[in-house]
Parts: sequence; structure tokens; C-alpha cells
Amino acid sequence: MIEKRCHSKESMKKNNKEKKEKIGRNDICKCGSGKKYKKCCEVLIKETKYTLGQMVSSEKCNYVLNYLNEQEIYQKYRFIDITDDLTTENYREYQMKNYNHNIVMIAEKKENNMGVFLERDKEDLVTNDIILLYAGSYRIINSENIARYSFTGFI
Ligand SMILES: [Zn+2]
Repeated sequence: MIEKRCHSKESMKKNNKEKKEKIGRNDICKCGSGKKYKKCCEVLIKETKYTLGQMVSSEKCNYVLNYLNEQEIYQKYRFIDITDDLTTENYREYQMKNYNHNIVMIAEKKENNMGVFLERDKEDLVTNDIILLYAGSYRIINSENIARYSFTGFI
């Protein structure tokens, strides 16, 4: 099922706002905790990005996420979108952090994560536009053809 980000949703909304307002790391956090930002929501964002992913997904990612969520095999797994944060440098970190979490990560091919695709997609780099990560493995697919793939195993 798609992640319901109850508690963290509000915190992260606040943090997105804070970022726009350029809150200093030593300023008092605007969530009302009374702690410095660097010891409060900044930490939360750093830690939760691995298990929550980003708050807003593109139309393409939403299409893929909705499709996968309808597949019987994925009913007990959770999907997160890591498109905007994924890079060749943190790819391994994402895989390791979520190795045992029943979390399937999804990323749409973009400039920041292009390297991840380049290193792995030997077949059709032009049309394939989505990478799915799960338990240390991955699958690169073309979102337009998603109905043609078989999802009988994990990704
Ligand atoms: Zn805070």
C-alpha cells in the first residue's frame, strides 16, 4: 500500500517551508519543539528520507505506483518515491537501509539519478525510464509498457 505519512508528513511540510525561509541550523526549530533545527527536524529529514521517500511524485511515478499497488504480490509491501534524491553515490545507502523493510523504492530517470540508470541499463536506455529497487536488487522498466511486464517475483 502507498505510504501514509501521518506524523512525519506535517513535520516535513514544515521543514520544506523552513528550507524556503532559509532557517539556520542553529536556529530554534519552527516545529515548536524548542530544540535547535540541526538537532530536531533536520535529523528527522535525514533519517526518514530513506523510509519515507519524497512527499510529491510526478504523474509518471504515480501512474507506476498505482499500477504496482494493484498487483496482488505487492499487497504487503510499501512503495516510496526516491526520484529526486537518488544518485550513484547514495544508491547503495538506499538499498542497505531498506534491505529488510519490505519497502520497494521507485525512481524516475532524471538528471540527478541518470548515472544509476547508465550503470545498469544495458538494454534500452532511451525508452526505459523507471528503476525499482528492492532488497538489494533492481529492475529497470519502461513506464509506458508497465502492463506488459510480469510482476511475479519481487520487482
Ligand atoms: Zn523540529
